[in-house]
Amino acid sequence: MSSTVKTCELCKKPLHGRIDQRFCNDTCRNNYNRSKRQHERIAPHTNAQEIFRLIKTNYEIIKKGIPGQFPDYNGVICDTKEFLASGINTKFYTSSFQDGGLQWCCVFDCCYSLQSDGTTKIIQIREQAEI
Ligand SMILES: [Zn+2]
Repeated sequence: MSSTVKTCELCKKPLHGRIDQRFCNDTCRNNYNRSKRQHERIAPHTNAQEIFRLIKTNYEIIKKGIPGQFPDYNGVICDTKEFLASGINTKFYTSSFQDGGLQWCCVFDCCYSLQSDGTTKIIQIREQAEI
């Protein structure tokens, strides 16, 4: 028989129960498992909060409308310089797609495409925000 006394994996108190006992009581077992789960949880990216805020701001900017924009057959068109000066951060969006050689970036259901003629087209595509 081994002379080493088994101890609780959390509080290190000596154990006197079954051979496979790992904890002195339910509280120690629960605390140990909770602590283990917390360590295994993946921490959010350092910039997550700020990126979510930028996406929200981008959405508000596009939804509110850019000064100088005029209606298109299914959306609006504005000067790309004005669009970029609106405070939008074009690095962050929620989805994107290509259509007829055009790159579209969407913030939820609001999509924009920077056209080669110096204008930006903005349209609403509900499917881009459907899961
Ligand atoms: Zn214990």
